[in-house]
Amino acid sequence: MSLYRDTGVVLRVQKLGEADRIITFVTQRHGKVRAVAKGVRRTTSRLGARVEPFAHVDVQFYTGRTLDVITQVQTIDAFGAGIVTDYQRYTAACAVLETADRMSAEEGEPVLRLYLLVAGALRALADGERDPSLVLDAFLIRAMGFAGWAPAVNECARCNEPGPHRSFSVQAGGSVCPRCRPPGSAAPAPETLDLMNALQLGRWDVAEGSTNNARREGSGLIAALLQWHLERQLRSLPLVERKSVPTTHSSASSDVRSASSEGSASSDVRSASSAQ
Ligand SMILES: [Zn+2]
Repeated sequence: MSLYRDTGVVLRVQKLGEADRIITFVTQRHGKVRAVAKGVRRTTSRLGARVEPFAHVDVQFYTGRTLDVITQVQTIDAFGAGIVTDYQRYTAACAVLETADRMSAEEGEPVLRLYLLVAGALRALADGERDPSLVLDAFLIRAMGFAGWAPAVNECARCNEPGPHRSFSVQAGGSVCPRCRPPGSAAPAPETLDLMNALQLGRWDVAEGSTNNARREGSGLIAALLQWHLERQLRSLPLVERKSVPTTHSSASSDVRSASSEGSASSDVRSASSAQ
């Protein structure tokens, strides 16, 4: 059997049969990995306690025929302990995991930067020294940068005209100058754009000096940008798959399968976050 080792963060835990679980990790070198943890639902399992959501672990896998199997786990950071005791930290950390899961759709595709962002955000949340909402927004805006969706906050998103500009359009991808401004653009406070800029750059001195209004408005814009990009990404997936198969009866049913598996994946995410 073929063994490999990696460092990762547990994003998701799902039941499999009577005693096993499927664990989803975002790893340093192997991208997103889904692997089986055998026997972990027995109360005597030591492995089970180490592969809970938020755990930062060193894992050994062997390559299975369908899913890889976890053979050893060592805890690097048990972030869960500092997270689950505080509701605000917990909800922020769940949003970090859910976003990372959705952004790393391609299993095996390297996502080193995303892994580092996830581990950094969970560490900051577990430490509890920063505002959980700011930690989450810093993660989200930087994760959008990882995905190629970094919003423009200084220049115009369409023509690159240096700003700051008064208008902001989620669909255009950030700040927009008066000439490029689409109808219905938002007009955030200048301090909100300053905050978003600071979060992108990791300037915590500036971010922590921001007002509540800027934080609230910034959170709203960041959530709207993320939602817009994720929905477009998910909608584009079935279209891409449909092009690659011939238009016969059997391909139509494979479309239905791929569309419904996509749908159940996102409804899993929704039901997981509403249950939490
Ligand atoms: Zn412009």
